[in-house]
Amino acid sequence: MTQLKERVPAIEGWFTTGEAPALLGSRCTTCGTYFFPREDTFCRNPSCSGREFEQVELSRRGRVWSFTDNRYQPPPPYVSPDPFVPYTIAAVELATERMVVLGQVAPGVDLASLRAGLEVELVLGTLYEDERHEYVVWKWQPVGDGGREG
Ligand SMILES: [Zn+2]
Repeated sequence: MTQLKERVPAIEGWFTTGEAPALLGSRCTTCGTYFFPREDTFCRNPSCSGREFEQVELSRRGRVWSFTDNRYQPPPPYVSPDPFVPYTIAAVELATERMVVLGQVAPGVDLASLRAGLEVELVLGTLYEDERHEYVVWKWQPVGDGGREG
């Protein structure tokens, strides 16, 4: 019998895990600049002295800016399965936030089908698992590619 593992975020507080998962960033209430990972101390915009931030859910869709086939184990906070399995990483541009967010491309997506400007959507996918839990992280999936990640 297969036991259903509990799905938990691999990194606490970086994204929501509902039906429509979204990255959690912060926005400077003074100048409106978005930050991800979230910034809560002082605004990194050099022409702003803002010290107050609100938590925001970032856009769930963006466009591929660049991508690469990753054959090397990434640094923390990324935790990799052992043995390491190569995967594709995409830098995705979020229009509203005017920022680029790195993430793995959802499994099963052919590298050849990726191109700059392709619209992708945030999904949650397994990063690694142990006996009782499935640790999930955000991944980018081409829009209209079905809901493979469930
Ligand atoms: Zn600011």
